[in-house]
Amino acid sequence: MKTPPGGAFAAPHDSVHRLGPMQRLEFPMKRHAPGEEVDYLVVGVGSAGGVLLQRLARAGFKVLGMEAGPFWDTERDWVSDEAGSRQLYWEDLRITGGKDPLALGSNNCGKGVGGGSVHWAAFTPRFHPSDFEVYTRDGVGADWPISYQDLKPYYELLELEMPVAGPLWYPWGDPHGYAFGPHPMGGVGNTLVRGCTELGIGVSIGGPVAILSGSRGDRPHCIYRGFCIQGCKVGAKASTLVTHVPDAIGNGAEIRDRCMVSRIHHDKKTNRVTGVSYFDAEGAEHFQKAKAVIVSGYAIETPRLLLNSACDGYANGLANSSGTVGKYLMAQAGNVILGRFDEPVRMYKAPPAHAMTEEFYETDPKRDFARGFAIQTVGPLPIAFSRQMLAARGSWGWGLRRVMMDYNHWSAFGLLGEILPWADNRVTLSTEKDSFGLPVAHVNFDLHDNDKKLIAFGRNKVEEVMRAAGATEIEQEARYAHLVGAARMGKDPATSVVDGFGRTHDIANLFVCDGSVMPTQGSANPGLTIQALAARTADYLISQGTRVFTSDERDMTPPPVRRELSPPGTHGPGIPRVK
Ligand SMILES: Cc1cc2nc3c(=O)[nH]c(=O)nc-3n(C[C@H](O)[C@H](O)[C@H](O)COP(=O)(O)OP(=O)(O)OC[C@H]3O[C@@H](n4cnc5c(N)ncnc54)[C@H](O)[C@@H]3O)c2cc1C
Ligand code: SF4
Repeated sequence: MKTPPGGAFAAPHDSVHRLGPMQRLEFPMKRHAPGEEVDYLVVGVGSAGGVLLQRLARAGFKVLGMEAGPFWDTERDWVSDEAGSRQLYWEDLRITGGKDPLALGSNNCGKGVGGGSVHWAAFTPRFHPSDFEVYTRDGVGADWPISYQDLKPYYELLELEMPVAGPLWYPWGDPHGYAFGPHPMGGVGNTLVRGCTELGIGVSIGGPVAILSGSRGDRPHCIYRGFCIQGCKVGAKASTLVTHVPDAIGNGAEIRDRCMVSRIHHDKKTNRVTGVSYFDAEGAEHFQKAKAVIVSGYAIETPRLLLNSACDGYANGLANSSGTVGKYLMAQAGNVILGRFDEPVRMYKAPPAHAMTEEFYETDPKRDFARGFAIQTVGPLPIAFSRQMLAARGSWGWGLRRVMMDYNHWSAFGLLGEILPWADNRVTLSTEKDSFGLPVAHVNFDLHDNDKKLIAFGRNKVEEVMRAAGATEIEQEARYAHLVGAARMGKDPATSVVDGFGRTHDIANLFVCDGSVMPTQGSANPGLTIQALAARTADYLISQGTRVFTSDERDMTPPPVRRELSPPGTHGPGIPRVK
């Protein structure tokens, strides 16, 4: 990792919570003594890990989050600058392959406390009820072991905790409204609204997006400078670093940053995990004992860690008796359609995420493929735009300079298309090793017939909208977004890794909780669903109490929704709700 302009990253001081002056807490972070056993050890403090730690700490468990990246000081480490923000991403070696390979690196996950929620654009639509029963409805993909109704109360909670700004009435999926008002429109949103309106396509303006449209607590409202994917130094965009981690620490959670978990240990006699090995910031290896382990490392690092933890009894990878770990990895089609307008658009102004349509989300029998797609604003900043024009047009040298001088006239919409889960799209271990000597992930990705038809149709539709908005030139860059799957949940232990609460079928005190548990992905951005799943898993663990640490019994009774565990001031009857 590069040293930032402010100096080398330092571990959090025991008496100072490193979130910059805005979120400074007046008490020390708990430090567990060397050799002390914790109740829950969470691997990865990202979107899911941050919410889990917060809930479990509030419920009184002894919890420890191990995070491979640094504990950001938002004031010191972040900059409102495209080139200066690359350290937010997991850019360690990964190998990509297959007929339609994924680009790995800055288009995937984060590295550092907050994980991908630090650099996400923060679009936060819910999944639709149909997403949970894709196989039953369409005969493709898979069904989830849980329904939309199981997750709905957690969507409602997280929408208030982040909070999500959006329209009073959102008509798609399970129609609902947002308690926090929509954002004003930027130039990109205006073009999307114009194009959709011209074609009679419904469009949501000003959200749903987890960016403050008014100030809340110590967080200010958005100032519309457009550096959301660079972390939002302002603090208006939600990340678990600012929404859940402070409350986790305030309730006794320890976060050990720059600690890379290398292996989960398993006792064959008891068939239980006992803790993890990890490398600290100086490269020294340690063992940390835990009564239960939850892996929240993202859809690539989670299967990688399970596979790297192969042991006597689980020779093909921990919790992998089904052979499913690493399989059914999914990415959404994320083609970017760029359009030039005679009048200036200025797409750098406003958050890139602020208008979208889900009119084409569901399976339409008139089309020759199953499932669907969304269309969203993208708004790339200049460096991303130059890369897109290089990919789309081959612009270079003087040609690229001319394109860049024209930047203010361009708008960009994103296709977000559902790619189905396929067994051959998978994470395996490479023969290449990282700096710790651990085999890195090899990712195979092929598009199948349904995916190709969906992408071709979706791309044409987005271009039609761009043209209807008044674009005089159109370019497109084919790309993917949002990796999920690879440790999927299901009822059948022969075809899935975890049950509906994230407990591995094989080992009673080992859980997975992040985007990798998703059996299908819809065409909604996954972050809200990932955090809602984490809150539900936490409620389940709290209901199970100490049984998780001692018993192999699997009680599948749904837990009560514990609204009182939300971070303070983020829920309650005082907040207006629209059902
Ligand atoms: C540019 C960009 C924009 C995006 N925009 C959106 C959006 O608008 N809306 C949306 O919903 N989603 C968006 N996403 C996707 C979203 O960020 C991810 O889906 C989400 O953060 C994944 O959550 P997770 O909990 O699975 O993993 P993460 O949030 O990535 O957390 C995993 C954490 O685990 C740590 N880790 C991994 N392995 C280890 C290990 N062995 N030891 C210790 N720590 C480890 C990592 O460092 C990381 O911090 C975007 C993604 C990108 C790249
Ligand atoms: S546009 Fe708003 S949310 Fe995005 S970085 Fe700026 S202040 Fe943060």
